[in-house]
Amino acid sequence: MGYENIKFPAGSKFLVTGSAGFIGSNLVEAILKLGYKVRGLDNLSTGKKENVEEFLDNPNYEFLEGDIRDLETCMKACEGIDFVLNQAAWGSVPRSIEMPLFYEKVNINGTLNMMEAARQNGVKKFVYASSSSVYGDEPNLPKKEGIEGNLLSPYALTKRVNEEYGKLYTMHYGLDTYGLRYFNVFGRRQNPEGAYAAVIPKFIKQLLKGESPTINGDGKQSRDFTYIENVIEANLKACKASHEVAGHAFNIAYGGREYLIDIYNHLCDALGKDIKPIFGPKRTGDIKHSNADISKAKEMIGYDPAFNFADGLSEAISWYKKNLSIK
Ligand code: NAD
Repeated sequence: MGYENIKFPAGSKFLVTGSAGFIGSNLVEAILKLGYKVRGLDNLSTGKKENVEEFLDNPNYEFLEGDIRDLETCMKACEGIDFVLNQAAWGSVPRSIEMPLFYEKVNINGTLNMMEAARQNGVKKFVYASSSSVYGDEPNLPKKEGIEGNLLSPYALTKRVNEEYGKLYTMHYGLDTYGLRYFNVFGRRQNPEGAYAAVIPKFIKQLLKGESPTINGDGKQSRDFTYIENVIEANLKACKASHEVAGHAFNIAYGGREYLIDIYNHLCDALGKDIKPIFGPKRTGDIKHSNADISKAKEMIGYDPAFNFADGLSEAISWYKKNLSIK
Protein backbone atom coordinates (compact mmCIF):
# COMPACT_ATOMS: atom_id res chain seq x y z
CA MET A 1 0.00 0.00 0.00
CA GLY A 2 1.12 3.56 -0.62
CA TYR A 3 4.29 4.64 -2.38
CA GLU A 4 6.87 5.46 0.30
CA ASN A 5 8.85 2.28 -0.40
CA ILE A 6 8.93 2.51 -4.17
CA LYS A 7 12.54 2.64 -5.38
CA PHE A 8 13.96 4.03 -8.61
CA PRO A 9 17.60 3.93 -9.75
CA ALA A 10 19.71 6.52 -7.92
CA GLY A 11 19.79 9.84 -9.78
CA SER A 12 16.48 9.19 -11.59
CA LYS A 13 15.01 12.35 -13.04
CA PHE A 14 11.30 13.07 -13.41
CA LEU A 15 9.54 15.70 -15.47
CA VAL A 16 6.16 16.83 -14.13
CA THR A 17 4.17 18.97 -16.55
CA GLY A 18 1.45 21.09 -14.99
CA SER A 19 3.74 21.20 -11.95
CA ALA A 20 2.24 24.40 -10.54
CA GLY A 21 -1.25 22.92 -10.52
CA PHE A 22 -3.03 20.83 -7.92
CA ILE A 23 -1.96 17.31 -8.91
CA GLY A 24 1.38 18.35 -10.44
CA SER A 25 2.57 20.21 -7.34
CA ASN A 26 1.70 17.23 -5.15
CA LEU A 27 3.67 14.95 -7.47
CA VAL A 28 6.67 17.28 -7.29
CA GLU A 29 6.51 17.29 -3.49
CA ALA A 30 6.26 13.49 -3.26
CA ILE A 31 9.16 12.85 -5.66
CA LEU A 32 11.40 15.32 -3.85
CA LYS A 33 10.54 13.63 -0.55
CA LEU A 34 11.61 10.30 -2.04
CA GLY A 35 14.96 11.92 -2.91
CA TYR A 36 14.82 12.02 -6.72
CA LYS A 37 15.30 14.91 -9.13
CA VAL A 38 12.29 16.74 -10.59
CA ARG A 39 11.91 19.29 -13.34
CA GLY A 40 8.58 21.07 -13.38
CA LEU A 41 7.09 22.58 -16.54
CA ASP A 42 4.13 24.92 -16.35
CA ASN A 43 2.88 28.03 -18.14
CA LEU A 44 1.12 29.25 -14.98
CA SER A 45 -2.22 29.57 -16.78
CA THR A 46 -4.42 27.82 -14.21
CA GLY A 47 -1.59 26.89 -11.84
CA LYS A 48 0.03 29.12 -9.26
CA LYS A 49 3.67 29.87 -8.45
CA GLU A 50 2.82 29.65 -4.72
CA ASN A 51 2.12 25.93 -5.20
CA VAL A 52 5.78 25.22 -5.92
CA GLU A 53 7.58 28.15 -4.30
CA GLU A 54 8.50 26.10 -1.24
CA PHE A 55 10.51 23.66 -3.41
CA LEU A 56 12.64 26.27 -5.20
CA ASP A 57 15.47 25.98 -2.63
CA ASN A 58 15.70 22.22 -3.10
CA PRO A 59 18.74 21.41 -5.30
CA ASN A 60 16.82 18.45 -6.75
CA TYR A 61 14.11 20.77 -8.13
CA GLU A 62 14.17 22.85 -11.27
CA PHE A 63 11.30 24.92 -12.67
CA LEU A 64 10.84 25.68 -16.33
CA GLU A 65 8.16 28.19 -17.21
CA GLY A 66 6.83 27.21 -20.62
CA ASP A 67 3.97 25.96 -22.71
CA ILE A 68 3.34 22.41 -23.91
CA ARG A 69 1.83 23.85 -27.09
CA ASP A 70 5.40 24.62 -28.13
CA LEU A 71 7.32 21.53 -29.30
CA GLU A 72 10.74 23.12 -28.71
CA THR A 73 9.83 23.80 -25.09
CA CYS A 74 8.72 20.17 -24.69
CA MET A 75 11.99 18.97 -26.25
CA LYS A 76 14.02 21.09 -23.83
CA ALA A 77 11.91 19.93 -20.90
CA CYS A 78 12.49 16.24 -21.76
CA GLU A 79 16.30 16.50 -21.98
CA GLY A 80 17.92 14.06 -19.55
CA ILE A 81 14.55 12.86 -18.22
CA ASP A 82 13.79 9.24 -17.26
CA PHE A 83 10.11 9.52 -16.37
CA VAL A 84 7.47 11.98 -17.60
CA LEU A 85 4.31 12.59 -15.56
CA ASN A 86 2.20 14.65 -17.93
CA GLN A 87 -0.45 16.56 -16.00
CA ALA A 88 -0.57 19.86 -17.93
CA ALA A 89 -4.01 20.41 -19.41
CA TRP A 90 -7.07 22.54 -19.01
CA GLY A 91 -9.72 20.84 -16.89
CA SER A 92 -13.48 21.38 -16.56
CA VAL A 93 -16.23 19.90 -18.67
CA PRO A 94 -18.42 23.05 -18.88
CA ARG A 95 -15.49 25.33 -19.77
CA SER A 96 -14.48 22.97 -22.60
CA ILE A 97 -18.01 23.23 -24.02
CA GLU A 98 -17.50 27.02 -24.10
CA MET A 99 -14.07 26.90 -25.77
CA PRO A 100 -13.48 23.68 -27.72
CA LEU A 101 -10.77 25.09 -30.01
CA PHE A 102 -8.59 26.04 -27.07
CA TYR A 103 -8.98 22.60 -25.48
CA GLU A 104 -7.91 20.97 -28.72
CA LYS A 105 -4.69 23.03 -28.73
CA VAL A 106 -3.69 22.54 -25.10
CA ASN A 107 -4.97 19.10 -24.25
CA ILE A 108 -4.54 17.32 -27.57
CA ASN A 109 -1.70 19.13 -29.40
CA GLY A 110 0.13 19.86 -26.15
CA THR A 111 0.05 16.25 -24.97
CA LEU A 112 1.04 15.02 -28.43
CA ASN A 113 4.04 17.40 -28.35
CA MET A 114 5.00 15.94 -25.00
CA MET A 115 4.77 12.35 -26.26
CA GLU A 116 6.86 13.22 -29.31
CA ALA A 117 9.46 15.04 -27.21
CA ALA A 118 9.59 12.09 -24.78
CA ARG A 119 10.10 9.64 -27.63
CA GLN A 120 12.86 11.72 -29.24
CA ASN A 121 14.64 12.07 -25.89
CA GLY A 122 14.53 8.35 -25.07
CA VAL A 123 12.30 8.78 -21.99
CA LYS A 124 11.72 5.44 -20.21
CA LYS A 125 8.08 5.87 -19.17
CA PHE A 126 5.44 8.39 -20.18
CA VAL A 127 2.59 8.53 -17.67
CA TYR A 128 -0.25 10.93 -18.46
CA ALA A 129 -3.44 12.21 -16.88
CA SER A 130 -6.61 10.95 -18.51
CA SER A 131 -10.05 11.26 -16.93
CA SER A 132 -13.20 9.39 -15.96
CA SER A 133 -15.00 11.68 -18.43
CA VAL A 134 -13.94 9.26 -21.21
CA TYR A 135 -16.83 7.03 -20.02
CA GLY A 136 -19.28 9.61 -21.37
CA ASP A 137 -22.90 8.52 -21.01
CA GLU A 138 -22.10 4.86 -20.27
CA PRO A 139 -24.73 4.11 -17.57
CA ASN A 140 -23.37 0.90 -16.06
CA LEU A 141 -21.55 0.99 -12.75
CA PRO A 142 -18.82 0.45 -11.86
CA LYS A 143 -17.06 1.90 -14.92
CA LYS A 144 -14.71 -0.59 -16.49
CA GLU A 145 -11.97 0.05 -19.05
CA GLY A 146 -13.18 -1.05 -22.49
CA ILE A 147 -16.86 -0.22 -21.85
CA GLU A 148 -17.18 3.46 -22.76
CA GLY A 149 -20.27 5.35 -23.93
CA ASN A 150 -20.79 8.44 -26.08
CA LEU A 151 -18.61 11.37 -25.09
CA LEU A 152 -20.37 14.37 -23.55
CA SER A 153 -17.80 17.16 -23.88
CA PRO A 154 -14.76 18.41 -25.81
CA TYR A 155 -12.74 17.86 -22.61
CA ALA A 156 -13.63 14.16 -22.61
CA LEU A 157 -12.74 13.95 -26.29
CA THR A 158 -9.29 15.43 -25.63
CA LYS A 159 -8.61 12.77 -23.02
CA ARG A 160 -9.86 9.99 -25.30
CA VAL A 161 -7.57 11.25 -28.09
CA ASN A 162 -4.63 11.33 -25.63
CA GLU A 163 -5.30 7.68 -24.88
CA GLU A 164 -5.40 6.77 -28.57
CA TYR A 165 -2.09 8.54 -29.17
CA GLY A 166 -0.72 6.82 -26.08
CA LYS A 167 -1.54 3.44 -27.64
CA LEU A 168 0.01 4.44 -30.98
CA TYR A 169 3.20 5.75 -29.40
CA THR A 170 3.66 2.44 -27.62
CA MET A 171 2.75 0.42 -30.72
CA HIS A 172 4.84 2.27 -33.30
CA TYR A 173 7.62 3.98 -31.42
CA GLY A 174 8.21 1.75 -28.39
CA LEU A 175 7.47 4.60 -25.94
CA ASP A 176 5.98 3.02 -22.80
CA THR A 177 2.84 5.09 -22.15
CA TYR A 178 0.35 4.65 -19.30
CA GLY A 179 -2.91 6.60 -19.13
CA LEU A 180 -4.41 7.28 -15.71
CA ARG A 181 -8.15 7.91 -15.73
CA TYR A 182 -8.51 10.00 -12.60
CA PHE A 183 -11.93 10.10 -10.91
CA ASN A 184 -12.66 13.42 -9.09
CA VAL A 185 -9.40 13.96 -7.29
CA PHE A 186 -9.34 16.10 -4.14
CA GLY A 187 -6.83 17.19 -1.50
CA ARG A 188 -4.34 19.87 -0.46
CA ARG A 189 -3.61 22.73 -2.86
CA GLN A 190 -6.67 22.12 -5.06
CA ASN A 191 -7.89 25.55 -6.13
CA PRO A 192 -11.14 26.59 -4.40
CA GLU A 193 -11.58 29.73 -6.56
CA GLY A 194 -13.57 30.45 -9.67
CA ALA A 195 -16.60 29.26 -11.56
CA TYR A 196 -14.91 26.01 -12.58
CA ALA A 197 -13.46 25.02 -9.20
CA ALA A 198 -13.91 21.47 -7.92
CA VAL A 199 -16.70 21.05 -5.37
CA ILE A 200 -14.81 19.97 -2.26
CA PRO A 201 -12.38 22.92 -1.95
CA LYS A 202 -15.05 25.32 -3.21
CA PHE A 203 -17.58 24.20 -0.58
CA ILE A 204 -14.96 24.29 2.18
CA LYS A 205 -13.93 27.85 1.33
CA GLN A 206 -17.50 29.10 1.02
CA LEU A 207 -18.57 27.45 4.28
CA LEU A 208 -15.56 28.86 6.11
CA LYS A 209 -16.54 32.31 4.80
CA GLY A 210 -20.12 31.77 5.97
CA GLU A 211 -21.49 31.76 2.40
CA SER A 212 -24.10 29.36 0.97
CA PRO A 213 -22.55 27.07 -1.65
CA THR A 214 -24.52 26.20 -4.78
CA ILE A 215 -25.13 22.54 -5.51
CA ASN A 216 -25.77 21.94 -9.22
CA GLY A 217 -28.78 19.64 -9.48
CA ASP A 218 -30.41 17.90 -6.53
CA GLY A 219 -27.23 16.82 -4.76
CA LYS A 220 -28.11 13.18 -5.29
CA GLN A 221 -25.39 12.75 -7.91
CA SER A 222 -22.53 10.54 -6.79
CA ARG A 223 -18.84 10.34 -7.60
CA ASP A 224 -15.82 8.20 -6.77
CA PHE A 225 -13.93 11.00 -5.02
CA THR A 226 -10.25 10.08 -4.92
CA TYR A 227 -7.69 11.42 -2.47
CA ILE A 228 -4.52 12.93 -3.93
CA GLU A 229 -2.24 10.41 -2.16
CA ASN A 230 -3.81 7.59 -4.20
CA VAL A 231 -3.11 9.52 -7.41
CA ILE A 232 0.55 10.00 -6.43
CA GLU A 233 0.82 6.28 -5.79
CA ALA A 234 -0.70 5.48 -9.20
CA ASN A 235 1.76 7.76 -11.02
CA LEU A 236 4.79 6.29 -9.30
CA LYS A 237 3.59 2.72 -9.76
CA ALA A 238 2.97 3.37 -13.45
CA CYS A 239 6.63 4.46 -13.72
CA LYS A 240 7.56 1.01 -12.39
CA ALA A 241 5.10 -0.89 -14.61
CA SER A 242 6.27 -3.42 -17.16
CA HIS A 243 6.53 -2.84 -20.90
CA GLU A 244 3.86 -5.55 -21.38
CA VAL A 245 1.14 -3.31 -19.94
CA ALA A 246 2.25 -0.13 -21.75
CA GLY A 247 -0.27 1.46 -24.11
CA HIS A 248 -3.11 0.88 -21.63
CA ALA A 249 -5.28 3.30 -19.67
CA PHE A 250 -6.33 2.55 -16.08
CA ASN A 251 -9.07 3.73 -13.75
CA ILE A 252 -7.53 5.57 -10.82
CA ALA A 253 -10.02 6.00 -8.00
CA TYR A 254 -10.75 4.52 -4.61
CA GLY A 255 -13.57 2.37 -5.90
CA GLY A 256 -16.35 3.88 -3.74
CA ARG A 257 -19.19 6.31 -4.37
CA GLU A 258 -20.24 9.37 -2.38
CA TYR A 259 -23.36 11.50 -2.81
CA LEU A 260 -22.74 15.21 -3.12
CA ILE A 261 -25.38 16.11 -0.56
CA ASP A 262 -23.79 13.75 2.00
CA ILE A 263 -20.41 15.36 1.44
CA TYR A 264 -22.00 18.76 1.88
CA ASN A 265 -23.61 17.76 5.18
CA HIS A 266 -20.39 16.17 6.36
CA LEU A 267 -18.43 19.35 5.58
CA CYS A 268 -20.97 21.44 7.51
CA ASP A 269 -20.56 19.15 10.54
CA ALA A 270 -16.77 19.04 10.32
CA LEU A 271 -16.52 22.84 10.00
CA GLY A 272 -19.20 23.49 12.62
CA LYS A 273 -21.47 25.34 10.16
CA ASP A 274 -25.23 25.31 9.87
CA ILE A 275 -25.67 26.75 6.38
CA LYS A 276 -28.30 25.68 3.85
CA PRO A 277 -27.03 25.18 0.28
CA ILE A 278 -28.61 26.75 -2.79
CA PHE A 279 -29.77 24.20 -5.36
CA GLY A 280 -28.92 25.39 -8.90
CA PRO A 281 -29.55 23.91 -12.35
CA LYS A 282 -27.87 20.66 -13.35
CA ARG A 283 -24.65 21.21 -15.34
CA THR A 284 -24.63 20.25 -19.02
CA GLY A 285 -22.30 17.40 -19.86
CA ASP A 286 -22.56 15.97 -16.33
CA ILE A 287 -23.51 12.40 -15.58
CA LYS A 288 -25.59 11.36 -12.57
CA HIS A 289 -23.40 8.68 -11.03
CA SER A 290 -19.86 7.51 -11.39
CA ASN A 291 -17.65 5.00 -9.72
CA ALA A 292 -14.71 2.95 -10.83
CA ASP A 293 -13.74 -0.66 -11.08
CA ILE A 294 -10.05 -0.42 -10.18
CA SER A 295 -9.15 -4.06 -10.73
CA LYS A 296 -7.21 -3.42 -13.94
CA ALA A 297 -4.84 -0.94 -12.24
CA LYS A 298 -4.51 -3.31 -9.29
CA GLU A 299 -3.57 -6.27 -11.48
CA MET A 300 -1.40 -4.53 -14.07
CA ILE A 301 0.44 -1.81 -12.16
CA GLY A 302 0.02 -2.97 -8.57
CA TYR A 303 -2.13 0.04 -7.58
CA ASP A 304 -3.44 -0.41 -4.04
CA PRO A 305 -4.96 2.86 -2.80
CA ALA A 306 -4.13 3.57 0.82
CA PHE A 307 -6.70 6.32 1.48
CA ASN A 308 -10.43 5.78 1.56
CA PHE A 309 -12.71 8.79 1.06
CA ALA A 310 -13.30 9.54 4.75
CA ASP A 311 -9.60 9.50 5.68
CA GLY A 312 -8.71 11.62 2.66
CA LEU A 313 -11.47 14.12 3.41
CA SER A 314 -10.43 14.57 6.99
CA GLU A 315 -6.81 15.28 5.91
CA ALA A 316 -8.05 17.70 3.26
CA ILE A 317 -10.28 19.56 5.72
CA SER A 318 -7.38 19.97 8.18
CA TRP A 319 -5.15 21.30 5.43
CA TYR A 320 -7.69 23.84 4.22
CA LYS A 321 -8.48 25.02 7.75
CA LYS A 322 -4.78 25.70 8.26
CA ASN A 323 -3.87 27.09 4.85
CA LEU A 324 -6.89 28.85 3.37
CA SER A 325 -6.85 32.58 3.60
CA ILE A 326 -10.42 33.72 4.07
CA LYS A 327 -10.96 37.21 2.72
P1 NAD B 1 -4.74 22.19 -12.45
O1 NAD B 1 -5.45 23.20 -13.32
O2 NAD B 1 -4.59 22.48 -11.01
O3 NAD B 1 -3.30 21.90 -13.07
C1 NAD B 1 -3.02 21.92 -14.44
C2 NAD B 1 -1.70 22.66 -14.62
O4 NAD B 1 -1.36 22.65 -16.01
C3 NAD B 1 -1.76 24.13 -14.20
O5 NAD B 1 -0.71 24.43 -13.32
C4 NAD B 1 -1.64 24.90 -15.50
O6 NAD B 1 -1.01 26.15 -15.35
C5 NAD B 1 -0.84 23.92 -16.34
N1 NAD B 1 -1.05 24.13 -17.78
C6 NAD B 1 -2.22 24.33 -18.42
N2 NAD B 1 -2.00 24.53 -19.73
C7 NAD B 1 -0.65 24.45 -19.92
C8 NAD B 1 0.17 24.59 -21.05
N3 NAD B 1 -0.32 24.86 -22.26
N4 NAD B 1 1.50 24.45 -20.89
C9 NAD B 1 2.04 24.20 -19.65
N5 NAD B 1 1.29 24.07 -18.55
C10 NAD B 1 -0.05 24.20 -18.68
O7 NAD B 1 -5.48 20.80 -12.69
P2 NAD B 1 -5.33 19.41 -11.91
O8 NAD B 1 -6.59 19.17 -11.21
O9 NAD B 1 -4.05 19.38 -11.17
O10 NAD B 1 -5.27 18.40 -13.13
C11 NAD B 1 -4.06 17.80 -13.59
C12 NAD B 1 -4.41 16.83 -14.71
O11 NAD B 1 -5.30 15.83 -14.24
C13 NAD B 1 -5.09 17.46 -15.91
O12 NAD B 1 -4.62 16.81 -17.08
C14 NAD B 1 -6.56 17.13 -15.70
O13 NAD B 1 -7.28 17.11 -16.91
C15 NAD B 1 -6.44 15.76 -15.07
N6 NAD B 1 -7.61 15.35 -14.26
C16 NAD B 1 -7.84 15.98 -13.07
C17 NAD B 1 -8.92 15.57 -12.30
C18 NAD B 1 -9.22 16.21 -10.97
O14 NAD B 1 -10.18 15.77 -10.33
N7 NAD B 1 -8.46 17.19 -10.51
C19 NAD B 1 -9.77 14.55 -12.77
C20 NAD B 1 -9.50 13.96 -13.99
C21 NAD B 1 -8.40 14.35 -14.72
